[in-house]
Amino acid sequence: MTKQITVATRSKTELVDISSEIEKIVKDSGIKDGVCWVFVPHTTAGISINEGADPSVKRDILSRLDKLVPSAERYEHLEGNAPAHIKTSIVGSSEILIIEKGRLLLGTWQSLYLCEFDGPRHRKVIIKIK
Ligand code: ZN
Repeated sequence: MTKQITVATRSKTELVDISSEIEKIVKDSGIKDGVCWVFVPHTTAGISINEGADPSVKRDILSRLDKLVPSAERYEHLEGNAPAHIKTSIVGSSEILIIEKGRLLLGTWQSLYLCEFDGPRHRKVIIKIK
């Protein structure tokens, strides 16, 4: 089964927790034991799993990525969003999650994030469950 959702981001850079939406799609699929792929078909937004309990972790990730890929540097890509492309390659465009007993097998502190690097925009997230 393949599903698509749209996520409206609100900032230039942002980590949006989409765990509960994906969890609901998994539950609705009826699949109890399987695999869930989550893929973002964009070049300036990605997907990552990280801590969902302490919001300072999200802020640290974003500020460290800004230091690694500063917007004030000179880049060849003329669209002006080269840092967003580079950050997307760093975090990646997909995650594979395990479904057990009809639920996503995430660690206690883990959340699934859509990583916006060139927002605000409407982002597609494609979910494949098998
Ligand atoms: Zn570009």
